[in-house]
Amino acid sequence: MSARVLVVDDVLPNVKLLAAKLTREYFNVLTAFNGPDALEMVRRESPDIVLLDVMMPGMDGFEVCEKIRSDPATMHIPVVMVTALSDIADRVRGLEAGADDFLTKPVNDIALFARVRSLVRLKMMMDEWRLRESTSGQFGVIERSGTMLSVSFERASVLVLEDSALDLEKVAETLERDHNTVFSADTGAKALERALGTPLDLVVVSLTLLNEDGLRLCSQLRSHERTRQVPILLMVDEGDLGQVAKGLELGANDYVIKPVDRNELLARARTQIRRKRYQERLRSNYEQSLSMALTDSLTGVFNRRYVNAHLPRLLERAIDSHKPVSVLMFDIDHFKVVNDTYGHAIGDEVLREVSARASRNLRTFDLVARLGGEEFIVILPDTDGEAALIVAERLRSRIADIPFAVSSDRGEINVTVSIGISVGGRLGDTAEGLVRRADEALYEAKRSGRNCVIADARADQLEG
Ligand code: GH3
Ligand code: MG
Ligand code: MG
Repeated sequence: MSARVLVVDDVLPNVKLLAAKLTREYFNVLTAFNGPDALEMVRRESPDIVLLDVMMPGMDGFEVCEKIRSDPATMHIPVVMVTALSDIADRVRGLEAGADDFLTKPVNDIALFARVRSLVRLKMMMDEWRLRESTSGQFGVIERSGTMLSVSFERASVLVLEDSALDLEKVAETLERDHNTVFSADTGAKALERALGTPLDLVVVSLTLLNEDGLRLCSQLRSHERTRQVPILLMVDEGDLGQVAKGLELGANDYVIKPVDRNELLARARTQIRRKRYQERLRSNYEQSLSMALTDSLTGVFNRRYVNAHLPRLLERAIDSHKPVSVLMFDIDHFKVVNDTYGHAIGDEVLREVSARASRNLRTFDLVARLGGEEFIVILPDTDGEAALIVAERLRSRIADIPFAVSSDRGEINVTVSIGISVGGRLGDTAEGLVRRADEALYEAKRSGRNCVIADARADQLEG
């Protein structure tokens, strides 16, 4: 992994030492010797992670970290503070300034590399989601996810795996300060069962269990679809940094050293909960905007873009499985008159009601799409020409026989549609050909007087 690491320290030998260690592990190293230069570098180079000295003349590490966090362009970059201080109060202050972790000088190599790798991995994943959101956001108008800091860390569901009653009580009591719901388990098996059955925002795993290895749970959580994304916070003994490195490799997100400092635990738990919720927001916005990109905003049925992407795949499957697929193309008759007589808004109501009637009268796996204007397409998988004719005739009469109740004081409106049918599923059939033949049949239906169904000549040659 050729991640780019920015090392910031006012003491030249410190920078050189860290840079050498990282370069040996194939990281790309950038350097800065004071706060303002570091900020400038972060903005310009957008590194994958920043290793930041706390004590620097002028602008100290806390301030640099806060500034990185408050700039939308840089707030996603992980920051690890490197300090000679081992004072807990400073750790918490760093975490509150937005640091992802604290490393104490002299820096332990295993802890350093494991931490850098896991934070860089996480950042790349978040970058991917943010990119997808911004790409898909171009299609539709959705509320963007905002920043991580706008996400609440309270009222989370947290599971704690811990077999020491004393330690458990301390952790639970601390997490409840944020109104979190805390579940506990004293074995990995019970913890896994709970995690698979309850949506969780965080799992805290003790690596000091008497009878088993908590890392097993980490690996199990990462291998199940339902728990793959849940943040994991490890609790370890001071001397167990090797375990931490293994845990971070397995996908754990962070760790605290026992005896646990309450403020530090809370600060780290908040970071994880927030990040998880932010990521969920990104994903759900992505999915929402994706669905907006593929549906027609007026009627809620699919749009042309979706048909273009989906019909070729459906047809291919039909050919492979020797099953026919039918296409109905329909168009409202004299729709211009509706607009001219009742106005555009009532015209829109008619379009919505036509879509609704079409959707109501089809099977769940049939597909309705508005191709534009007052022209629609219905795709019927696994349906031959004979069956398609029945469906089309039913659709025609459901629209023609029941007048449309619209919000006009001039009463109900009689609406009719003309429908053209084509059937595909033979080797060599193409989606364009299928659509074109349905369109030609529709044109025939219009010429034959409207409010009727015409099938393409080839439609009855394909039996289901
Ligand atoms: P035909 O029976 O031959 O299909 O006649 P028609 O009047 O339905 O067809 P034409 O293509 O001449 O007119 C379609 C009209 O549909 C014209 C256009 O203003 C209207 N239209 C297209 N999109 C919309 C829309 O989103 N809302 C409304 N209210 N009208 C639309
Ligand atoms: Mg029309
Ligand atoms: Mg038209």
